[in-house]
Amino acid sequence: MRETTHAGEYRLPRHRLAERLARDGVKDPKVLAAVQEVPRHRLLPEALWAQAYRDAALPIGDGQTISAPSVVARMSEALQLTGRETVLEIGTGSGYQAAVLARLAARVVSIERLPGMAARARRALDALGTTNVVVHLGDGTRGRPSEGPFDAIAVTAGGPEVPEPLLAQLAAGGRLVGPFGPRGAQVLLRVHRIGHGRLRREVLGRCRFVDLIGEHGWQA
Ligand code: SAH
Repeated sequence: MRETTHAGEYRLPRHRLAERLARDGVKDPKVLAAVQEVPRHRLLPEALWAQAYRDAALPIGDGQTISAPSVVARMSEALQLTGRETVLEIGTGSGYQAAVLARLAARVVSIERLPGMAARARRALDALGTTNVVVHLGDGTRGRPSEGPFDAIAVTAGGPEVPEPLLAQLAAGGRLVGPFGPRGAQVLLRVHRIGHGRLRREVLGRCRFVDLIGEHGWQA
């Protein structure tokens, strides 16, 4: 799908941000194009618009943060999307990662546990004209078995370990990317389902995300 609204706003800062991410090692041209096209400011409170194209995490209310663009780009790239996938995202937050994924995959199913956050993200995504993202309210650590299996899963909040239900909902050949490990010592993990039984885990780097809270995450 193509977002058409607000594309003219902050065009130059967005272009510079994409250039910077390319210099810093993001290689997938489709990911760079998505960063250049998605108006990140429109997923933030208006008071933060002027900061929207710095490579930084920013507060989005309820103690949560929108991930830095470099983190969103690296996670999106790590999912190795071709455009045909159905992607499950855990932690809708602002809706920014979902809007980026929506340009790289066929469909995005995103789950958020906070009702106000989910409602704001839905409104913001509608305002961008994003039509291939569904936002569900609930505990994303349980996944969404009724809509799986998923070709790719992005977990955008940090849990102690990879939630079992998410691994169970990962299609053969599918990739899951997310931050896991003890608080303060998280790593960004990629889990690849090779065939039906086997999983291959890779550590992509260190990272720091807000808590994944739920049955298969941290307890509230
Ligand atoms: N992808 C988001 C990142 C937001 S921060 C963005 O682009 O802005 C992580 C989000 O995960 C928060 O909104 C938090 O409420 C949510 N979250 C934490 N645990 C969750 C769970 N078990 N299920 C769904 N959402 C969860």
